[in-house]
Amino acid sequence: MPDFNVVVIGAGNGGLTAALTLARNGVKVLLLERHNLPGGCATSFIRGRFEFEVSLHQLSGIGSPRKPGPLRRLLGEMGILDKLELVEMKGLYRLVIPGEIDITLEADRGSAVETLKARFPREGAGIEGFFDLLYKFSAQMVAVAFARDPEASREKYPIFFEHALKPTQQILDQYLRDPLLKSIISTYWTYLGLPPSRLPFSDFALLLWSYLEFKPYHLKGGSQALSNVLLESFLACGGTVRFNCAAQKILVSGQKVRGVLIEDGEEIPCFYVLSNASTLTTYTDLIGPENLPRDSFQSFGGKTIGPSGFTVFLGFDRGPEELGISETTNFIGRDSDPEHAFARWRTLDVPGSALLSCYNVFDPDFSPPGTCQAALVTLQFADPWLSLPPSQYFGTKYRIAQGMLNLAEQVFPGMTKHLEEVEVATPLTHMRYLGHPGGAIYGFEQYAKDSSFFESRRSFVQGLYFAGSWVAPGGYQTTLQSGVSAARAILKSLNKRN
Ligand SMILES: Cc1cc2nc3c(=O)[nH]c(=O)nc-3n(C[C@H](O)[C@H](O)[C@H](O)COP(=O)(O)OP(=O)(O)OC[C@H]3O[C@@H](n4cnc5c(N)ncnc54)[C@H](O)[C@@H]3O)c2cc1C
Repeated sequence: MPDFNVVVIGAGNGGLTAALTLARNGVKVLLLERHNLPGGCATSFIRGRFEFEVSLHQLSGIGSPRKPGPLRRLLGEMGILDKLELVEMKGLYRLVIPGEIDITLEADRGSAVETLKARFPREGAGIEGFFDLLYKFSAQMVAVAFARDPEASREKYPIFFEHALKPTQQILDQYLRDPLLKSIISTYWTYLGLPPSRLPFSDFALLLWSYLEFKPYHLKGGSQALSNVLLESFLACGGTVRFNCAAQKILVSGQKVRGVLIEDGEEIPCFYVLSNASTLTTYTDLIGPENLPRDSFQSFGGKTIGPSGFTVFLGFDRGPEELGISETTNFIGRDSDPEHAFARWRTLDVPGSALLSCYNVFDPDFSPPGTCQAALVTLQFADPWLSLPPSQYFGTKYRIAQGMLNLAEQVFPGMTKHLEEVEVATPLTHMRYLGHPGGAIYGFEQYAKDSSFFESRRSFVQGLYFAGSWVAPGGYQTTLQSGVSAARAILKSLNKRN
């Protein structure tokens, strides 16, 4: 008998929750991670006296103990809720377009609607109508897609079936007139990687509804604290982990898993593999087309690899109040047109808009006393970076970072005088650390045709399962959930086998 029932490849969110769920159920699991610490995107790094958060801006699906969201419940089921310190953010976001708009929405439906109506008094009925639809739609979507009502039908859930795959822009246009108002309400499109004209309403509605209903959260210690707790709990349940240890091949015979080959040439026999690496890398590099059915790659034909990120990590020698930062989540920009912003993600131009997150606003301990840290981030595709000669890499990276700092200066004048540490991550950095094609942080783009509603969970190899952003919509909540559901599928199969 093999020493391990399951080998999990990758200790990102999906890999960690899968490994923990399996180990809690008595399964012998080996977790392999090519990096030297757990988390994937959910991690931190140290420069000078700052421990920089890599990715978590606003954690969704948490909710309060009295009104728990799906992620709070999941963390409870995994036995790790009481090991985490969750911090609620009051604000949804501040949006600043210098000279045009400076508006802050609270993470509460009533007050967000009132703020919008006060700024756009002629659009009151449209604003009410939009939020009414958002809430009705989300309630129906939860019933159909998450509670999986066995009697779901177009007649029973008409709002869901009518609007789920419509572009978000179409719904905005139906209720609202002022382009600026539409931009304010759809600000979160940047979290999903597609502009409202191409973003299915189901993805946008669920995200905005979830932040309004369950509030955005952050974690004391950042996302690395979550990754560490997941790993420690996994080890406490008898799991085994190897860091600096990439899976090189998934060994298959007769289209069934029979083991994993790791970097040093060791073969680890097993009948189940759960991959947190991308589906593309898993099939092409780890398994190889010669070991797959001929039509395996057809389903990838129409998919597009999604964006990566460009982040300027900032450590200041002043607290946020001295820099004029009063909100945690600040969307700042020169123009309010999502189409422009999205087009720029495919270039090496300085982006016209960015997000500045400063966790110290509600968590003063997030950096040493008298300091604060912030992340200035935009999404970007890897393509132009991949065709850049290496000699131009550093110049380009610092030119874009400087342009983004200039943008931030317009909103927070004088802030750059207090910079103590700066680090920059490009799409190539994400490629290097995650091993994903294009350094994509949300997997494939989520066009309506590629919506998770249609995603086939079928794997081409018996015993091979997936978790993470390449099989679920990207983001913390969804990838953490995807690991648990993949682990449950393996448990079911193991039970049958035994
Ligand atoms: C800058 C940035 C900002 C973000 N902001 C937010 C936010 O505010 N809210 C939100 O919800 N989401 C956010 N996200 C997205 C979110 O972080 C990701 O979607 C999510 O963490 C991805 O989890 P995953 O399970 O897909 O694993 P990943 O994080 O993609 O990790 C995969 C792991 O697999 C490992 N691996 C790959 N190949 C191998 C191999 N052959 N052998 C061993 N190990 C391997 C990698 O090293 C990595 O550790 C952000 C991401 C980034 C980068």
